Amino acid sequence: MGVVTILCPRMGQQVSTGIELGRKEFAALSPTRHYAMRCWMCGGEHEWSRRWAYYVEDARDLPVRQPSYAD
Ligand SMILES: [Zn+2]
Repeated sequence: MGVVTILCPRMGQQVSTGIELGRKEFAALSPTRHYAMRCWMCGGEHEWSRRWAYYVEDARDLPVRQPSYAD
């Protein structure tokens, strides 16, 4: 199980979206469907889609902090 990450545009750092998926599930996400997340790193809200996301196979490679979603 890996984790979906995006690049925080403010901090320029790879941050976890808090979404854990298998590689196949990640590949099956629509590249045009957008998700909004509250970034735990900068406190801003970022929209992302698979096109801009980066799949990390091992979440231990990342800081273990989770963003919060509005709903
Ligand atoms: Zn951010």
